[in-house]
Amino acid sequence: MSLYRRACRTLPGGVNSPVRAFRGVGGDPVFIRAARGAYLEDEAALRYVDYIGGYGPMILGHRHPQVEEALRRALEMGTVFGAPSRAEVELAEQICAAVPSVEMVRLVNSGTEATMSALRLARAATGRSKLVKLAGCYHGHGDAFLVAAGSGAATLGVPSSPGVPRAVTSDTLTAAYNDPEAVAELFQMHGDEIAAIFVEPLAGNMGLVPPTKGYLETLRRLCDDHGALLVFDEVMTGFRVAYGGAQELLGIDPDLTTLGKIIGGGLPIGAYGGRRDLMERIAPAGPVYQAGTLSGNPLAVAAGRATLDLLADGSVYDELEATSGRLAAGLREIAAGLDVPLTVHRQGSMLGVFFTAGPVRRQEDVDGSDRDRFARVFHRLLEHGVHPPPSAYETWFVSTAHGEDEIGKTLEAWRAALEGEGV
Ligand code: PMP
Repeated sequence: MSLYRRACRTLPGGVNSPVRAFRGVGGDPVFIRAARGAYLEDEAALRYVDYIGGYGPMILGHRHPQVEEALRRALEMGTVFGAPSRAEVELAEQICAAVPSVEMVRLVNSGTEATMSALRLARAATGRSKLVKLAGCYHGHGDAFLVAAGSGAATLGVPSSPGVPRAVTSDTLTAAYNDPEAVAELFQMHGDEIAAIFVEPLAGNMGLVPPTKGYLETLRRLCDDHGALLVFDEVMTGFRVAYGGAQELLGIDPDLTTLGKIIGGGLPIGAYGGRRDLMERIAPAGPVYQAGTLSGNPLAVAAGRATLDLLADGSVYDELEATSGRLAAGLREIAAGLDVPLTVHRQGSMLGVFFTAGPVRRQEDVDGSDRDRFARVFHRLLEHGVHPPPSAYETWFVSTAHGEDEIGKTLEAWRAALEGEGV
């Protein structure tokens, strides 16, 4: 029996997180037994150039020696204390020093926890209950965020998953990403009831879709005009597109920021932070309750600290820019030569790869891309030793372990995968 069949007997869908099951591309998932640098190795000892990057954390590649060393040292000191520790203070200081709008931070265990907690805080601080969520952005699996994109430009949320009560999503208002008028309309209708806008400043959960010019500025202004909070979900972009995240890159300060992925160096973590006056409302400094047995876990904190130490030297981002730039240019050039309509978005080491002539500004544009072609090309890339994320809706991540060899190998595989795929 294949490992996947066996997995399906005890794990729903054979996996612990849906996208891993290859439903977006068909076929059976590849089971990974090890990873090093820019490579994944499967159960049959086949190696793949990795563009999943753990869905974001592995900006330094797998098993970076300094991260491993920090973990080894932490392991010798104990794995959970249930009491505060110096390393947590140091990670908090690193985050506050790096991310422009973050003055105080609370560590949690996942991105989902970070956004759920930030929502609670935003509601407490404003005394309001509605939130604005943008279609195509993902903020984890908290009930309030699991709303289906409406058919109109701006709509009331309906649950996108069974088990989410309508009563919960009735406070979630949705609009298309990159549609400032739709959000303005929501504020016209519900301006004094909206606690916060949640947004991925660079959307990374429908492939990479950057904000159109002035979009985030409009969201900032609408929040200010109506007394709502702007929450940047930087779980993916934090320490990825720049050391200070998308907010540093784009020069816009949100009121609250959620983080995860890179700040744990590949171990489970999340965080939310922001203005001191807001964060001081969190228990026990203030009345807004939020807690966690494993929050600030010593191993996750150690891996995160080592990772941020390495990233603090800004040259890492120049290096990632160069490698990722070569990759994006190569993908485009080969596709153009073979007459395959392709749009590649890139911001630093994040890439959105869409089989469409574009433009790609919203979720519906990604829906309209040739996802069957993506699935075919994906499987051919796998055969050629390259493992992109298994969905047209996921961002490709490049790490510092990706060098000339890996980019060259990827582009060769890409050419082979695209041959015969012309218009
Ligand atoms: N927000 C964003 C922007 C994300 O990309 C993700 C995960 N991909 C989450 C929140 C949820 O994080 P987690 O999977 O750690 O719960």
